[in-house]
Amino acid sequence: MTIEVAKTAGFCMGVERAVRLTEEQCRTHGKVYTLGQLIHNTAESERLCSIGVTIADTIEDIPEGSRVVIRAHGVGRDVYDALKKKNAEIIDATCPFVKKIHRIAETESADRRTIFIFGSPVHPEVRGIVGWSGESIVAENIDDFEKWLRSDENNRYKRIAIVAQTTSNVDKWEIFLKYTRKQCTNVKIFDTICSATDERQAETRSLAKRSDCMLVIGDSHSSNTVKLADISRQECGNVFLIGSADELGRISLPTKDRIGVTAGASAPGWLIKEVVNKMSDEIKNTEIMETSENQSFEELLEQSVRTLYTGDRVTGIITQITSGEIQVDLGVKHAAYIPESEISDDPLYNIEENLKVGQEIEAFVVRVNDAEGMIMLSKKKMDSIRGWDRIEEAKANDEILEGVVVEDNKGGIVVSVNGIRVFVPFSQTGLPRDADLSDMVKKTVKLRI
Ligand code: SF4
Repeated sequence: MTIEVAKTAGFCMGVERAVRLTEEQCRTHGKVYTLGQLIHNTAESERLCSIGVTIADTIEDIPEGSRVVIRAHGVGRDVYDALKKKNAEIIDATCPFVKKIHRIAETESADRRTIFIFGSPVHPEVRGIVGWSGESIVAENIDDFEKWLRSDENNRYKRIAIVAQTTSNVDKWEIFLKYTRKQCTNVKIFDTICSATDERQAETRSLAKRSDCMLVIGDSHSSNTVKLADISRQECGNVFLIGSADELGRISLPTKDRIGVTAGASAPGWLIKEVVNKMSDEIKNTEIMETSENQSFEELLEQSVRTLYTGDRVTGIITQITSGEIQVDLGVKHAAYIPESEISDDPLYNIEENLKVGQEIEAFVVRVNDAEGMIMLSKKKMDSIRGWDRIEEAKANDEILEGVVVEDNKGGIVVSVNGIRVFVPFSQTGLPRDADLSDMVKKTVKLRI
């Protein structure tokens, strides 16, 4: 038997980031509230609760001064205001893609445009976008749009900005756009669909086509998981939807065939691995194909088609500073962020004092995922590259540099010059043989490379 796991199975970048930020809070502060369930997966929710997460259904359920994670779907401005009134420490895990829609809604509303949201009116993401818009209309299909057009004959001349719920179906969105362009005279369109959903569905379809049996891992209440099961059924006659490895016992898997495995965006990697391992333990002579269960997430990200590359130096504008990361607009469709751990090596570095929203920032690309449009950046790597360039230049020109002694050791001292550790042997310090090198620590010195 062969088991083939879809490359796109499991967490998307937005969900992975929200979980990572929440785990960091639990690790450093012991407990944190999430406003609503962070992800639609019972096993993962239980795991998060076991490490310190409390799920609050409403703001009223959150005690004054608590730490609160806002989930990837995002929320309206009123929710931020209400949390601030409660002196909450907000950890904003809104997916950068969704955040971008919030900014569009805010800016275009200020420019007197009605915000048209193509999506489901009951979806939390859409409710959040409404919360950043002035006048807004939500339409799930052309019928809803027509109703709005008919409600006032002047509507077709209105200034409109159209955005889409990130998980909208691309085909339906395009049909919708064609129609609105014909009907309205002043339309501005923002393609805000996230490609993660589309890629996952396309891969599931092609995997189901070449598999004798499909296993869909995820919560039966998660709409994107149910959609994956539906797509699989269209292409394959033997489809099972399971929530955990324990449920393998209630289904009878073929033992000689080719089994395809996919999972919804809220299924964690550990759960997928658990299911695949149990399957291969139960069914002997199994070959697991070289896909996600054998590769790290980073490796899969590296494999995706890229427009920017790891190692590129980029310049962007800081759009948001939160307690876990900095979001940066690089002027491309991708959303970019710098995790707190990648900002500076200096333990005394003060983010609030040194970095401001609207400020230009140079960074180094450490990870790119074109499929999901996310870029992870590092400022500290950039600082160190810049420091190295400066050192090479000084060497070429025989220039004198200045730095602070950060360490002494048996052989000499270490001086930090533009963030680069420069070793100065004892014989080059200019000090007598019996000098105590520790006296030099924290002193500013001049040196030549
Ligand atoms: Fe995931 Fe895309 Fe939604 Fe972000 S917008 S949470 S990457 S599906």
